[in-house]
Amino acid sequence: MNDSNCIFCKIATGEIPAKVVAESKHAIAFHDISPAQPVHVLVIPREHHSNVAELSFADPEALVDLMQLGSRIAAEHTTGAFRFTFNTGAEAGQTVFHAHGHVLSKNPKIQID
Ligand code: AMP
Ligand code: ZN
Repeated sequence: MNDSNCIFCKIATGEIPAKVVAESKHAIAFHDISPAQPVHVLVIPREHHSNVAELSFADPEALVDLMQLGSRIAAEHTTGAFRFTFNTGAEAGQTVFHAHGHVLSKNPKIQID
């Protein structure tokens, strides 16, 4: 089920545009609109869950799929040094209440064509 008031549900359905990096069965990855580091990609489940803790109990298969998508993006976009974080709860800095991981790195992989 998706939440009609949720901005990340709208990104998941394509109602709101995003710079999508990659997709998997259960998850979508897109560039953060306000990047905090040279690599800053968000990874969200297609279905609405308020935070990663709820997702872990409700749909562990989707969480593993999301972690694998984020790990693949980190391997493709960084030197291998990155953080993969899930702010959980407003007091911990969560501002969008649709589960999402931040893939963050100061070490982008240099693309040589
Ligand atoms: P958090 O503070 O952990 O809830 O992270 C929410 C993140 O979503 C922030 O880093 C925002 O910059 C990002 N964000 C909010 N709206 C959008 C959007 N429409 N497209 C991409 N990223 C967004
Ligand atoms: Zn949502």
